Amino acid sequence: MKKLVVITGASSGFGKALAERFSAAGYPLLLLARRLEKLEEMQLENTICRKVDVTDYDAFEAAVREAEAVYGEVDLLINNAGCMLLGNLENQDRTEWQRMLDVNVMGVMNGMQVVMEQMKKAHHGTIINVSSVAGVNPYINHAAYCASKYGVNGLSEVARQELAPHNVRVMRICPGAVKTELLTHTTSDNIKSSYNNWLETNDISITADDIAKTIQFAYEMPQTVTMREIQISDTKQA
Ligand code: NDP
Repeated sequence: MKKLVVITGASSGFGKALAERFSAAGYPLLLLARRLEKLEEMQLENTICRKVDVTDYDAFEAAVREAEAVYGEVDLLINNAGCMLLGNLENQDRTEWQRMLDVNVMGVMNGMQVVMEQMKKAHHGTIINVSSVAGVNPYINHAAYCASKYGVNGLSEVARQELAPHNVRVMRICPGAVKTELLTHTTSDNIKSSYNNWLETNDISITADDIAKTIQFAYEMPQTVTMREIQISDTKQA
């Protein structure tokens, strides 16, 4: 049997595509999200679904330990859960900044701490953090989102250096725009409609499964190979 893969934010978008792809490849899975019904409706074999908010460390840890008791130790954690609430720095509701930092940064750090000790002991394992091109380039109306994803890139590289002597890989993937539910989180109708216009005008058609396929490729490279940072976007995204 292949080793356990944990995917956060598996109820839609990249996470759902990852769950379907890794399941088809024969990996036992632990799928986490707040919308449990969305996880369960995929009806994947050898899969445990748990309602976990990634900002809740104890719930995250309990779900991982439960899945490990069934399938053995986790070998891949994909920290994919995230939210994007675009807004103007001058007037955006500050609770939206806090939510992005809590989910996108603290959620990723929680996941890393949950699996790190065990991976070090096993002298094997991989953590893949889903960042964004907004973790590499600044964009107007993305202040807190950029802050969170620049944070993910920074903390991922620190963790990579810390875990390298233990044969544990840490990678970050920085996708460009992909049509998922992500934009629906934004509360400003003006920002949402101009972003949607930009997606249509530029014919952005890269899919969530293209991202999932890339993550699977990176994971399935030999353990000696770490793709430290993967940037990937639709060819037509300038
Ligand atoms: P979606 O909105 O489709 O998926 C986001 C997922 O995160 C959902 O499954 C959601 O599940 C989950 N999630 C959100 N908040 C929490 C939380 N507090 N606890 C647990 N799960 C949570 O968007 P994408 O698939 O596009 O996004 C996936 C990742 O990719 C994000 O980190 C995003 O920032 C990143 N990304 C996306 C890009 C894009 O253009 N689509 C580009 C670059 C990066 P639920 O609501 O059920 O909890």
